[in-house]
Amino acid sequence: MGAAEPDGPEEAARFHTLLQAFEGLPAAVGGQGKDPVNAPMIRHWCEAMGDTDPAYTGPDAIAPPTMLQAWTMGGLSGHTDRSSAYDELTALLDGAGFTSVVATDCEQEYLRPLRPGDAITFDAVIESVSARKTTKLGTGHFVTTRMDVHANGTPAGTHRFRILKYRPAGPARPPSGRQAQPGALRPRPVVNRDNRGFWDGVAEHKLLIQRCTACATLRFPWLPGCHACSSPDWETVEASGEATVFSYVVMHHPPFPAFDPPYAVALVELAEGVRMVSNITGVPYDKVRIGMPVRLEFLRVDDGLELPVFRGSEG
Ligand code: ZN
Repeated sequence: MGAAEPDGPEEAARFHTLLQAFEGLPAAVGGQGKDPVNAPMIRHWCEAMGDTDPAYTGPDAIAPPTMLQAWTMGGLSGHTDRSSAYDELTALLDGAGFTSVVATDCEQEYLRPLRPGDAITFDAVIESVSARKTTKLGTGHFVTTRMDVHANGTPAGTHRFRILKYRPAGPARPPSGRQAQPGALRPRPVVNRDNRGFWDGVAEHKLLIQRCTACATLRFPWLPGCHACSSPDWETVEASGEATVFSYVVMHHPPFPAFDPPYAVALVELAEGVRMVSNITGVPYDKVRIGMPVRLEFLRVDDGLELPVFRGSEG
């Protein structure tokens, strides 16, 4: 439909009227669950959630009610039952510049328990499209879809799902595109159960490498299992800190708020044999060379972040 980007309030109201024409139209018709409700999926779900409720096991098991959506999901192979109305609504929003999407919330209502063997079907309707809203992410429209789930042909529950289709707020980049933004923080690492030991080591100014206790293969970055023998058992080895630059790039573009281009990003080979990506300090970006010896140090980036980096010396 190629609608223009709605900028003024009048255009926004006109655009909202176009969007509201989709309210009540089907989002999916005659959807079929890829599998009937089944014990293996229930068991995997309960293990992933750490839910040990006895109602979900044994001969009289029911499915956890919050699995309602799981029985309707298309998986990697997708669903073919999405309606043309939903695709048209998406295209209209995309065409107006609301190209990004984020799921915001979900509401479920349970009408009866689901049990292994129940065959799942569903229909979904575009319930509402909000007026233009501005959020921290950007400006856009909330789209609410209601899915009615049936088991063996009788109503089993309702799943209401809301997304924000939005135009991202202006990219966080400095006007010149060349300098770090004052006060901008570097991205935080994602610390999880698989890599927490590494970050605990960093806090103690130790660079820890995982070593498989079954076959002694070193691994970095941290992973839950050994890529050589699949053993889940490991210990740590503290890196000596001696390393060489195995390869590097000089970043000029794109700009990131906390970084000041140009700068070198290196793949460093530790004396122990594993490699890691890091920054090179102590040497101008254009003096970094492959094979250059470097030494581990810890850089206090800001109050909340300390990182292992490698110091080179010129000449
Ligand atoms: Zn191993």
